[in-house]
Amino acid sequence: MRCLVISDIHANLTAFEAVLADAGKFDVIWCLGDMVGYGPDPNECIERLREFPHVCVAGNHDWAVLGQLSLEDFNVDAQRASLWTRQQLTPDNRAYLESLPVKLVEEEKFTLVHGSPRQPIWEYILYPSVAKPNFAHFSTHFCFVGHTHAPAIFRYREAEHDSNVCELLEIYYSRPMLLGNDRLIINPGSVGQPRDGDARASYLILDTEALTIEYRRVYYPVEVIQARMDEANLPVRLITRLSYGW
Ligand code: ZN
Repeated sequence: MRCLVISDIHANLTAFEAVLADAGKFDVIWCLGDMVGYGPDPNECIERLREFPHVCVAGNHDWAVLGQLSLEDFNVDAQRASLWTRQQLTPDNRAYLESLPVKLVEEEKFTLVHGSPRQPIWEYILYPSVAKPNFAHFSTHFCFVGHTHAPAIFRYREAEHDSNVCELLEIYYSRPMLLGNDRLIINPGSVGQPRDGDARASYLILDTEALTIEYRRVYYPVEVIQARMDEANLPVRLITRLSYGW
């Protein structure tokens, strides 16, 4: 099965469409949460995702829009965007977000969460020191996470003398990487608001038979969504950061 693995669309339909066009044929979408928040197209993104066979877990921004998380944990710009999104969301799309689980297991081998297996909604796995204890919190071989908006692969290996090792692997783009025998935590990066200094949308394709992942980056016209954000009077900082991918 060919899975399109995406995360953190953040109501950026322009980036989402670019990913869908670039991905080629796939059987299913695995979405790791944060469909909404920051961007101008919350309803459009949810509705577009729902056109495909897919599974999706909830992210912190999805919960914030539903009022399931306090906005006090957000910075002022994220708060404004969240309140704006709350007003825009149709009852049907709101019900869809409410229906999302926080953790899923797919094809027996893959756990799906937004933040981390230990704290699915909030924890950021940015470093091996945070990834390492998280390997005890899921039972499948692999785990997909989002939330940091930065592509990453953490590998856990049982080393000699009981000193298990967790390390960050180098990511290669546009070619299949074999998942191998070691347990991994894999972040596909963000579709709608990359934060690794590359403004292009980030995603990956998983082949569940060959057990490979292929990371990809795809250009999208940032100025098109920026104009829509401007029209919606969304915070300027959220508009400019898309140009730089931070
Ligand atoms: Zn996010």
